[in-house]
Amino acid sequence: MAQDGEGSVGFIGLGTMGREMVRNLLKAGHAVRAFDIIKSATAEMVACGATAATSPADAAQGADIVITMLPDTPDVEAVIYGESGLLGSPPPGRLIVDMSTISPVAVRRIHGDLQKIGVGFIDAPVSGGPVGAKNAALSIMAGGDADAFAKAEPFFKAMGTTITHAGASGAGQTVKLCNQLVCGINIQAICEALALARASGVDLELLRRVLLGGSAASWMLDRLGPAMIAGDASAGFRIDLMLKDLKLVQNHAQALDVPLPATAFVTSQYVDARAHGEGANGNQALFRVYDRMTNQTTG
Ligand code: NAD
Repeated sequence: MAQDGEGSVGFIGLGTMGREMVRNLLKAGHAVRAFDIIKSATAEMVACGATAATSPADAAQGADIVITMLPDTPDVEAVIYGESGLLGSPPPGRLIVDMSTISPVAVRRIHGDLQKIGVGFIDAPVSGGPVGAKNAALSIMAGGDADAFAKAEPFFKAMGTTITHAGASGAGQTVKLCNQLVCGINIQAICEALALARASGVDLELLRRVLLGGSAASWMLDRLGPAMIAGDASAGFRIDLMLKDLKLVQNHAQALDVPLPATAFVTSQYVDARAHGEGANGNQALFRVYDRMTNQTTG
């Protein structure tokens, strides 16, 4: 079993999160074979010390573990089941870890298919955003077999600070979906408070400071509040990725007959935001929905 800083990693998906996670794996002393369908993203990682791979199978060559950090369920399925995929060419270390946020149902299917060929599969989505990824301070919530989790743990330590084995395959994604539900409803509550304060003529930065000092304090208000108040919609966790996550929450809840009325409402607000061209903007752009509803703007 690899100790901290030992072992080689195949890493697939070098976007907002993946590129920071690769940097931290390299810093911790791991060798990384990096692959992304965007060639410039792979080249950027080579400049940091990684080796370029030309396909998922190539990234898996000689690796103890392959980690995927991709946008959505079909992307992970393409990397596992597609041409030059990991099902046909698993890493010699016989361990694959997906750290994207995807469907728990798809996770269990992939886990079963890889189990048949003797390859472990861990779902290990993350929370903490690009800043958490950059600072190697992610919260990593994992699902899967205990022995596979133990093999993956030294690699997780290079990328995160809170590392939790949540249970069997799919449990990591279930915990992540609960996380997203809380984040979505929280940002919605912040939008409502900001809209009310703005219409009342209260200074929004003062409002944020006061709320952060009391029981309404939250990560969202702390980290996204300044951009919401400044009307800066650009950077951060994209609206379309959050909408993807909220749909995963809804599908999961419907299959289990769990009503989530507040999540349903927030999802419709995200649909509205995306329909108005905010899909590529950060989550703080949800406040633009309130700009339209109140005919007021900030920043
Ligand atoms: P991103 O879109 O910035 O990066 C994804 C990368 O995957 C892109 O570079 C893309 O080219 C690459 N890719 C897509 N299909 C591929 C394929 N078949 N083979 C190889 N590469 C492929 O996304 P991100 O923001 O890094 O998020 C990745 C995952 O992490 C998502 O599931 C997201 O929901 C989750 N997440 C994101 C954040 C965040 O703040 N951005 C926070 C927590 C979790």
